[in-house]
Amino acid sequence: MTPEFSITPERLSHFQGGLVLRHHKKVSCEPPLKHAGIPEKLLIAIKANRGHVSEPMVQVGDTVLKGQVIAYPIHPFGAVLVGADHETVLLEQGNIDSVNHAESTLARRAAKEFTEAQRWAMTLYTTAEPCVMCAGTQYWANIGRLVYGMSERQLLDMTGNSSENPTLDVPSRYVFSKGQKNIRIWGPVNQVVDEIAELHKMFWS
Ligand SMILES: [Zn+2]
Repeated sequence: MTPEFSITPERLSHFQGGLVLRHHKKVSCEPPLKHAGIPEKLLIAIKANRGHVSEPMVQVGDTVLKGQVIAYPIHPFGAVLVGADHETVLLEQGNIDSVNHAESTLARRAAKEFTEAQRWAMTLYTTAEPCVMCAGTQYWANIGRLVYGMSERQLLDMTGNSSENPTLDVPSRYVFSKGQKNIRIWGPVNQVVDEIAELHKMFWS
């Protein structure tokens, strides 16, 4: 059989795709198509998407239907509480809902688990500057240090008037300046602002 196309190393290295040789076409048409079916067990990693952590609405082992909601996305806010050694992460917390933000929830948990003196030496790290509710809770929880990635103003630029997150515009420094405790603040942290902003752009757009 006369080759219809000779493949040389030169040709392979310049191959652009899209070529269907007649004898190859025939071969590719011969095997019958097989239905792949549905696997016995289907694992869906609903917490794997970057920046879009979701709250599962189904339990392991549940039978789900096509189109059924299996998880709701959680707003991309998160906070951690770091100990007096500035290294040990003591608590982690994501956003729960509009009245249980990551930072205020974390501060309430800290108030139950640590003494007031211990909390004063701790640092609350958060991706976005705490809102007035969260800064207020940090104040009352006596957590002495705050580090935030992106400012609330920057967040407001992205959420706009979203009904899910009508962002306030009250700097944490302003909230603490009206109190009677010298809570120290670092932020925004320019090195991480772009990365955090990217998550929010994807979420709120
Ligand atoms: Zn808040």
